[in-house]
Amino acid sequence: MLNKIITRRKLLGSASAALTVAACTPLNLQSGKQGFYPRPYSRMPWTAPRISPGAAIRAVVGHRPYRAQGFRVERETYDSKTVVHNYGHGGGGISLGWGSSGLAVKQVNDLSPGKVAVLGSGIMGLCTARLLQDAGWQVCVYTRDSYQHSTSNVAGGQWSPASTHDPDLVNEGFLSSLDVAARISHHAYASLPAAKYGITWLENYQLQRQPFTDFKRPSYDDVFAYSASLKPGEHPFADTYVHRNVTMLINPGIMLRQLTTDLLVAGGTIKNRSFESLDEVLALPEHTVFNCTGLGAAKLFGDKQLVPVKGQLLFLPPDPAVDYMTVGPGPGLLYMFPRSDVTVLGGTYKKNDDSTHVETEENARIIASHAALFSGFTV
Ligand SMILES: Cc1cc2nc3c(=O)[nH]c(=O)nc-3n(C[C@H](O)[C@H](O)[C@H](O)COP(=O)(O)OP(=O)(O)OC[C@H]3O[C@@H](n4cnc5c(N)ncnc54)[C@H](O)[C@@H]3O)c2cc1C
Repeated sequence: MLNKIITRRKLLGSASAALTVAACTPLNLQSGKQGFYPRPYSRMPWTAPRISPGAAIRAVVGHRPYRAQGFRVERETYDSKTVVHNYGHGGGGISLGWGSSGLAVKQVNDLSPGKVAVLGSGIMGLCTARLLQDAGWQVCVYTRDSYQHSTSNVAGGQWSPASTHDPDLVNEGFLSSLDVAARISHHAYASLPAAKYGITWLENYQLQRQPFTDFKRPSYDDVFAYSASLKPGEHPFADTYVHRNVTMLINPGIMLRQLTTDLLVAGGTIKNRSFESLDEVLALPEHTVFNCTGLGAAKLFGDKQLVPVKGQLLFLPPDPAVDYMTVGPGPGLLYMFPRSDVTVLGGTYKKNDDSTHVETEENARIIASHAALFSGFTV
């Protein structure tokens, strides 16, 4: 026992001595010298992900439902039917799931709960359905595809309501709705039992080559923990400026499956059905309909502002030793999200591109750029 204590003390003593020396060692990224970079959230040492062309398992393609004017949450009346829209969340739909759906459900606060139809079983359809159930509605979800085949299931899943609109085209009303939706959503995700719903809290490092002089923090930046801007030498990414925070990584497959289970357990039903026209929607037996069809709303409700933004991701085997995320640095969209099932490498962002094929040259760029980023890693 005494031996054990002495050994542990010795170890702690030498570890703290090593930390003191490391903390006093001048940092020098240019020379590639080892540095000591404290981590605010994790106690694990930094580990670079293993990235090489031969490591990829598969690539996936999805299409973000983007509206330059921002997402549409709006109530309309068609004869005796009430239709509430909840679509067009671009690259931030997973992040905004609960919040945008909360705003949508609020639109029917004046109606007595009864039977309601929800179109779509992506993140918006399922969050909307669950919130309606909590408010006393009897929900039937109608969907063309099961959640496994939705855009939501393709998402990288970082909680970061990004690429949701064109800043030059939105008004104050939208920005305020976005702010409310983001905050409600963050609170709702953060209140769920994390493991059951596929949520992991991780440090996120947003990287760029220039100082963050013109970096505009979103108004909901205060919801992030450990938020800070770091200069080269204060982190292990060579020659980069960093904005760091701690945020959620949401595994969409686990989240969507659990929400589907919750929906069914609470007495909801799911019917596979593809709607080809508005008339078909208006012929539904339910008097109240929530439209959560993502890109499907373009044809169904004639929304010409809604366009696809093609995104491509590469999956590598998981690496539990990597416990932080990176976004950037450009050129081209880059991110690394270490999920428990796969390491996700992104990505692409191609507006008005509805093609579904995997672009091999983009895979090569994503791999080469990440390999270069982590080969300069100085820990
Ligand atoms: C590569 C990529 C990475 C992303 N990364 C992130 C991220 O890290 N963080 C984040 O917050 N967001 C991210 N997103 C964005 C996010 O995935 C979307 O904003 C979100 O999934 C949209 O959800 P949705 O429910 O509106 O649409 P969808 O998931 O597309 O669901 C629409 C549903 O409607 C059904 N439907 C459509 N048309 C019809 C019809 N005519 N009849 C019946 N049913 C119909 C579909 O079958 C589907 O079930 C990413 C997207 C992509 C493509």
